[in-house]
Amino acid sequence: MKEYEQIGLERIDILMNMCKVYPKNAKRYTYLAKKLSEKIGLPILKEYKRLICKGCGEYLVPGKNCTVRLKNKVKYITCNECKTIKRFNY
Ligand SMILES: [Zn+2]
Repeated sequence: MKEYEQIGLERIDILMNMCKVYPKNAKRYTYLAKKLSEKIGLPILKEYKRLICKGCGEYLVPGKNCTVRLKNKVKYITCNECKTIKRFNY
């Protein structure tokens, strides 16, 4: 792995942690994390991607700003703000 890739990934890590500490600014942080991953040409980690709303870029916290439903081994996450539904197998 090249140096700038490592630095980029580290910064994405930091940004995603900042979302937890400052939920008010989460949209800004997820936006920056997305931009950063584009810049270094690496995708955001799966664990993080699942926490970012596709529609509005909000950082999703179950029970706070999103609804989680399980059905037929598929997990549905609905964003309370823009009603975008994410789904993936679990
Ligand atoms: Zn949303």
